Amino acid sequence: MRAAVSGLDMRSAASLDDALRILRDERRTPVAGATDLYVALNFGTLEQTRFLDIWSVDELRGISERGDTLVLGALATYTSLIRSPLVTQRLPMLVEAARQVGGVQIQNRGTVGGNIANGSPAGDSLPVLAAADAVVVLRSADGERRVPLAQYYTGYRATVMRPDELIVAIEIPPVEGKQWFRKVGTRAAQAISKIVMAGVRSSAPRIAFGSVAPTVVRVPLTERALASGAGIDQGVKVLADEIKPIDDIRSSAEYRLQVAKNLLRRFWLETA
Ligand SMILES: Cc1cc2nc3c(=O)[nH]c(=O)nc-3n(C[C@H](O)[C@H](O)[C@H](O)COP(=O)(O)OP(=O)(O)OC[C@H]3O[C@@H](n4cnc5c(N)ncnc54)[C@H](O)[C@@H]3O)c2cc1C
Repeated sequence: MRAAVSGLDMRSAASLDDALRILRDERRTPVAGATDLYVALNFGTLEQTRFLDIWSVDELRGISERGDTLVLGALATYTSLIRSPLVTQRLPMLVEAARQVGGVQIQNRGTVGGNIANGSPAGDSLPVLAAADAVVVLRSADGERRVPLAQYYTGYRATVMRPDELIVAIEIPPVEGKQWFRKVGTRAAQAISKIVMAGVRSSAPRIAFGSVAPTVVRVPLTERALASGAGIDQGVKVLADEIKPIDDIRSSAEYRLQVAKNLLRRFWLETA
């Protein structure tokens, strides 16, 4: 049943320390842009009623460089990623992904931290971050830890994040090679991906898919085959054995497998 907004208990955090203290003491659910949470509220699938609004916590917002690491604040919106010269220069595949998320309203409110925490296997930023070897920075009142995105998900929408932790930032090491992103959905905008792929073409190619497994996945066997110079036909064969897409309401397993193979071919051709 649709949850009544008046029945929700919402607190607003004034600073990061404030937010972490409230999370520790009151175990509330963080709300960033609310674009995923509002849908859940509307569908009546939200069990929680106690929330912590972190939208005003400026410490979570910036996009910067620390040494040679690109640092995205968890509250970086898709619009801020699109407009960032730093992201455009260092991680153009993320700009491409951000451009294809929802419409302008969603791009203005949706955040990269929310996309990661929500953990949908169709989240558009996730293959990009997986292919870029991104690290998720988690902080609680007790301290900070860094978890590579590859180890962040433990199953369908299940993550290693504890209830007293927030994603505070995403760290991205330098990415060498040509970057590539493609999302296949029913329409170009406002559509959840049927399949999404990000790739980096170098002597050690890095390839990640969304919507072919319960979580975003890298395809190490395919990566290794292509790195060894096997050629794209062999790469596509290895991919066909490596991923096991599922049937669901958005698409069939057969269609997803065929599209994944086509995307891999297209990536190889366009980054040659
Ligand atoms: C019309 C529409 C179109 C959409 N299109 C797309 C699309 O094309 N591609 C796509 O990938 N997504 C799409 N989405 C989904 C959504 O916009 C994104 O997943 C967005 O990035 C979520 O960010 P948010 O800040 O709004 O998260 P919220 O809704 O605020 O939160 C989502 C989840 O993350 C948790 N959370 C948020 N921030 C943090 C944090 N810093 N630390 C810990 N937990 C946190 C919340 O507790 C909640 O569980 C769409 C949504 C709508 C409504």
